[in-house]
Amino acid sequence: MSQAQKFETGGDDCVILHYNEIGLKGKNRPFFIKLLARRIEEAVRPLAGIHRVRKLHGRLLLEIPEVCDWSGISEALARVFGLAYFARAKSIPLDLDAATEAALEIIAPLTIASFAVRSRKEHPGLPLSSREWERAVGARVQARRHLPVDLSHPGTTIYIEALKDRAILYAEKIPGPGGLPVGSSGKVAVMLSGGIDSPVAAHRMMKRGCQAVFVHFHGAPYLSRASAEKAGDLAEILGGYQPGSRLYLIPFGALQKDIVLSAPAADRVVLYRRFMIRITERIARLEGALALVTGESLAQVASQTLSNMAAIEEIANLPILRPLVGMDKEEIIAEARALGSFEISIEPDQDCCSLFTPKHPATKSKAHLLRRLEAAMPADQMIDRALAEAEVLEIRGGARPTVRPFPEVHPFPAKDVAEP
Ligand code: ATP
Ligand code: MG
Repeated sequence: MSQAQKFETGGDDCVILHYNEIGLKGKNRPFFIKLLARRIEEAVRPLAGIHRVRKLHGRLLLEIPEVCDWSGISEALARVFGLAYFARAKSIPLDLDAATEAALEIIAPLTIASFAVRSRKEHPGLPLSSREWERAVGARVQARRHLPVDLSHPGTTIYIEALKDRAILYAEKIPGPGGLPVGSSGKVAVMLSGGIDSPVAAHRMMKRGCQAVFVHFHGAPYLSRASAEKAGDLAEILGGYQPGSRLYLIPFGALQKDIVLSAPAADRVVLYRRFMIRITERIARLEGALALVTGESLAQVASQTLSNMAAIEEIANLPILRPLVGMDKEEIIAEARALGSFEISIEPDQDCCSLFTPKHPATKSKAHLLRRLEAAMPADQMIDRALAEAEVLEIRGGARPTVRPFPEVHPFPAKDVAEP
């Protein structure tokens, strides 16, 4: 089909992609837009026949073949942080006839109770005003399809964005996930349990532009690896929001046993957490992550009182981000359902924190007492041993995850690696 014929039948197929927060970014805007374009390309690349994303005035354009897996493409785009909304569209010459044909083609599959045309002119030099576009295209569509016009509450809106050398026309806006493109805020190490909260915490930080690397502690050899399987499934869901994901699986049972041998039962959970933080920090430094993320919510359980958070945090050198700290469980569950992680999180497993813990753990831990307890343990050795036995799962969009032993992924010991 020649270019001229294509325009006669309604223009080139494309997706128009809008961002909002990025638009406010002043001097850094090109950096954010470039990254967003890359994330879009990575998200749709596995779907055949997709070309490059083009940067237009205040929006992005992705050319797609006329015949394509649109539901696959729109599902992938709905997971690209930074997008406010997007729409399957026609790119046409700045011409009323072409706009009318494209409008008719776009609304052909839709059931329409009433319609309106809304136009935005993005270039001052264009001959027709937005109102003139709206009236002319509206009148022609009405004449051809005999549909009622409703300017105040239209059932369907036909949008026309008139740019310098083309117009973009669409009718169905699909909401994007908002936020900022993954990677624009740097990397974080997420402590991912098999529970409900931490996947939601990860999702929130990814939405704010963080690339996430995941760290999970399981109770092997004393407990089953069920929690590690769950963490893998959760990391896969979260992996849909970034180009590739890594999950570090840390066997924690032996380290817990060492703690049990030298600490009172009430202090164990907080001590477990302090070691988890130390190990996650080692991984964060190797990965160039600038902060740790947890799913803690204030006072949800004994380990999450202010005193215990302080007692856990005092050994951290990197910031610990707790995006759910002020949320109720019900609010977190609603987000987990929307993310699609809830059903996985509620599957039964054996959480390593339940290993050797008393019914009533301390709620007001004192850091100086914990330090004294740790001084009697071979802390560095305990950490080195856990890392030496760790595995790393590489998760890449749809492909089966590959597993490698941790020391193979990174030169070991980790201490030799430079700070990010
Ligand atoms: P979650 O639902 O995320 O498991 P929770 O309500 O069970 O949270 P805790 O068990 O106190 O709360 O855990 C608090 C946070 O500590 C978790 O959100 C997670 O970030 C981290 N964490 C706890 N257990 C593990 C684990 N086994 N592996 C990795 N991180 C963990
Ligand atoms: Mg938990």
